Amino acid sequence: MRPHKTETGQPGPTPLGIRKPTGFLTFNRELPHDASPRERLRHWNEFHEPMPEEKLRKQGARCMDCGVPFCHTGMLLNGMTTGCPLNNLIPEWNDLVFRGLWKDALDRLHKTNNFPEFTGRVCPAPCEGSCVLGINEPPVTIKNIESSIIEEGFDAGWVVAEPPSLRTGKRVAVVGSGPAGLACAAQLNRAGHWVTVFERADRIGGLLMYGIPNMKLDKRTVTRRVDLLTAEGVNFLTNTEVGKNYAAEKLLKEFDAVVLCTGATRPRDLPVPGRRLDGIHYAVEFLHANTKSLLDSGLRDGNYISAKGKDVVVIGGGDTGTDCVGTALRHGCRSVVQFEILPQPPDRRPPDNPWPQWPKILKTDYGQEEAAALQGSDPRNYLIQTKEFLGDPGGRVKEVRTVRVEWKKDEKGRFSPSEIPGSEKIRPAQLVLLAMGFLGPEDGLLKQLGVPQDERSNIRADDGRFHTGVPKIFAAGDARRGQSLVVWAIHEGRAAARECDRFLMGRTQLP
Ligand SMILES: Cc1cc2nc3c(=O)[nH]c(=O)nc-3n(C[C@H](O)[C@H](O)[C@H](O)COP(=O)(O)OP(=O)(O)OC[C@H]3O[C@@H](n4cnc5c(N)ncnc54)[C@H](O)[C@@H]3O)c2cc1C
Ligand code: SF4
Repeated sequence: MRPHKTETGQPGPTPLGIRKPTGFLTFNRELPHDASPRERLRHWNEFHEPMPEEKLRKQGARCMDCGVPFCHTGMLLNGMTTGCPLNNLIPEWNDLVFRGLWKDALDRLHKTNNFPEFTGRVCPAPCEGSCVLGINEPPVTIKNIESSIIEEGFDAGWVVAEPPSLRTGKRVAVVGSGPAGLACAAQLNRAGHWVTVFERADRIGGLLMYGIPNMKLDKRTVTRRVDLLTAEGVNFLTNTEVGKNYAAEKLLKEFDAVVLCTGATRPRDLPVPGRRLDGIHYAVEFLHANTKSLLDSGLRDGNYISAKGKDVVVIGGGDTGTDCVGTALRHGCRSVVQFEILPQPPDRRPPDNPWPQWPKILKTDYGQEEAAALQGSDPRNYLIQTKEFLGDPGGRVKEVRTVRVEWKKDEKGRFSPSEIPGSEKIRPAQLVLLAMGFLGPEDGLLKQLGVPQDERSNIRADDGRFHTGVPKIFAAGDARRGQSLVVWAIHEGRAAARECDRFLMGRTQLP
């Protein structure tokens, strides 16, 4: 427990040297220390070390409490998220942390975010990209302060089950237990409805459980929250796929409302020659099997796709690709590279990407740091297009054939990749992981329910109402907005719950 916290509303002792109004001039941005890449590659645990309270308060003091903050806005600017999509009350809890009022900070944080322990670990922090201090100084460490508040709350025993005092008697089914489904269930339960969450996997959490690896989000953090929701009255059914082993008609008959939070689970394929060779897998297949085996048996059951001793090629330079790199390295792969067809982002904001927009700059994540420590260089190769997979006589992938590309404008002004003659390369690969994004939700259940889809195959349900147009069926999360972020999924789950509550009761008090 932190020594300075107080439950009385009185500030704790001020650490020597803190003066809030000029904190941003006095203190530099500082993040917690991470275990070294070589050290953390030996295990599957999280590797950020906790920060002493004094340092956290100094980081809170860096918040300028600006007249017009942008960090909490959650707008889309230039098609990108700007500020926190949950409208977290960031300047307020920064100030409360500075003053040592941890319990108050926790209450303020929970007003807008059901699961700060998830966002505090995995959010890319668009808030920090739009922090006003970030115009000419490194921004406030908002994400780390968020995760410190919630962990303080758990350590101090302040985060406890709070079942609703009244029940409405209405029954709601939430299909899918990712962050959207969990946030939706939490809010509907808070409003007094009986909520059942259906999940086809054997564990609750969606991509929080079986996408994001344990070293980025420890699965005990997910089950800790699921246990609280259970204690609050939410009913979870695992191994239950609606539309397969639980009939869609039954769902409609037994529940007063349904919220579809089934995710955008159709991965983008790479239909080049050799695609059907053994040893080529979708990233989520690889990551799911790894986490399941890790949780079931500490990887002793062997029920995962091992990268041990292999040359691994990850196709896709994004976050999912990073998770594949970190996982393959922990298996003990011989080498790992990441191929990305787009150009390398710049080190600094280009003129067409000004503050407060999300900065589209090169970021080096944990997987790349680890690969660089082990292999001597960043595993990402930009402007690479995969042309073919080559196999051995046994039908297993052995090599990948690539070319370099440059992006050129066509006559309509659209950019497209064009191959550079003579740039062909063959690279050894006994394991290929496809991490090129997702195309939208699976449509089996949607067809059974008659739920409409838009031109991108996402569930069609208006932004404001989250209603699909089919009586009593709502939708939220990646299934509705397309592949996105945990913070948006929580935002969607909360908003859909509010609309569902309004539908059930004729009015709503949910935020
Ligand atoms: C590998 C990976 C890493 C990522 N890392 C990050 C990150 O670091 N930070 C971040 O912000 N975002 C990250 N994302 C994105 C983020 O995880 C998603 O945007 C978010 O989880 C979407 O939440 P959701 O609840 O809409 O769907 P999901 O989390 O996909 O959950 C949907 C759930 O519905 C279940 N389901 C589907 N159909 C049925 C059915 N018929 N019956 C019962 N259950 C069903 C699925 O099994 C699944 O559990 C990552 C994504 C991936 C793939
Ligand atoms: S949820 Fe994400 S965007 Fe919002 S405050 Fe936390 S880190 Fe920032």
